[in-house]
Amino acid sequence: MTRCYNFCAGPAALPEAVLQTARDEMLDWHGKGLSIMEMSHRSAEVVGVADAAEASLRRLLDISDDYAIVFLHGGASTQFSAVPLNLLGGKGSADYVNTGQWSRKAIAEAGRYCDVNVVASSEDTNFSTIPPFEEWQLGADAAYLHYTPNETIGGVEFPWTPQVDVPLVVDMSSTILSRPIDVNAYGAIYAGAQKNIGPAGLALLIVRRDLLGKAHDLCPAMLNWQVAADNESMYNTPPTYALYLAGLVFEWLEKQGGLQAMAEINRRKAQKLYAAIDGSAFYANPVEPASRSLMNVPFTLADAELDKTFLAESEAAGLLNLKGHRSVGGMRASIYNAVGEDAVDALIDFMRDFEQRHG
Ligand code: PMP
Repeated sequence: MTRCYNFCAGPAALPEAVLQTARDEMLDWHGKGLSIMEMSHRSAEVVGVADAAEASLRRLLDISDDYAIVFLHGGASTQFSAVPLNLLGGKGSADYVNTGQWSRKAIAEAGRYCDVNVVASSEDTNFSTIPPFEEWQLGADAAYLHYTPNETIGGVEFPWTPQVDVPLVVDMSSTILSRPIDVNAYGAIYAGAQKNIGPAGLALLIVRRDLLGKAHDLCPAMLNWQVAADNESMYNTPPTYALYLAGLVFEWLEKQGGLQAMAEINRRKAQKLYAAIDGSAFYANPVEPASRSLMNVPFTLADAELDKTFLAESEAAGLLNLKGHRSVGGMRASIYNAVGEDAVDALIDFMRDFEQRHG
C-alpha cells in the first residue's frame, strides 16, 4: 500500500493513526461484536463516544460551560441560514465582513432573512487583504457581526480578532483546531468537519448558551440551535460514524500535545512553503504577507500554460489535489493538521525541481 500526500482543501487528509484505529475497530468496536456504525444513536456506546468527543474538544479549545457544543448535519453551508434564523432575535439587520467566496455565500444566505450590512469588503484587492478594522462601517442596530476568519479559496486569514459590542459569529471551517483560540471572544463558532475535524457529513457549532432560545418562529427544528443543544446533538439521528471519527481526531490532537503544539508545526509548515514561493521568481502568492493563511496556500506559476504539466507531474510524484479552486486558478496546497511537515517538504522539493526543469 502506498499512501500519497493529500493537499485537498476538503474533504481533506485525516491522520493516518485515526484511519488505522477506524480500520481495526471497523467490524467489532471494543469487543461489542458490531461496528459503531451499526449501533443505535441512543445506545450507551454511541452516547459515550459523543460525550467523549465533546469532552476532548472542550479540553483542546478550553471551552467553558457557558458554551454549548453541538454536532449537526448539513456542513457549514446550512449554518449560513441557521445563523440569522437563530440570532436575529427580532432585529432586522446583521453586520457581515466580505473577505472572499465563503463570506459572500454567508452574506447571500443571510440576505433572505434580514438586511445585511456589509461593514467592509476586500473585493477591491481581489480578496488578497483583510480590511483594516478602522475602516469598518458597523451598523447601529445589528444583531451580530459575522466574518470568515480563514477564506479557504483565497488563502487569506485574519491575524486579529475584531472587538465589537455585538456577538461575533465566525465560520471557522478551515482554521478551527489549527491553533489555540480564545473561544470567549465569540458568540458562535461553526465549522464544516471535513478539514481539521473529521469526515464530511458533520458540522460543529460552539455557541454561548445565553444566545440560545431566540430562534425565529419559522426556524425549522433541524436548524434550531436550542433544540440541538437541549437534545445533546441527538434530536434526530446524527451522523454517528463521522462523530466517532471526529472523536478519534480530537484524541489524536491531544496526543500530539494539543493546539499549542499543532500551532508550532503549522506555523513552521506555512513559513517554509511561503518562503519557497517568495524566494522564487517562478511561483507567486498574491496575499499580503500579514494576512496569509496558515492552512490554505494558493500559488500561481509564472506561465499558466504549465499548470497542467505541474498537476500531472505532481500527481505522478504522489502529491495529490494541488489544483487551485476553479474561481481562482493556479494551485492551492491545503496544509491542515493531518498534512505532516514531511508532506510540505516533499512539495517544496518537487516545486524546486519543477522550476529547474521548466522555469
Ligand atoms: N465555509 C468555508 C470557509 C469553507 O471552506 C467551506 C467548504 N470548503 C464551507 C464554508 C462550506 O462547507 P460545507 O461544504 O461543509 O457546507
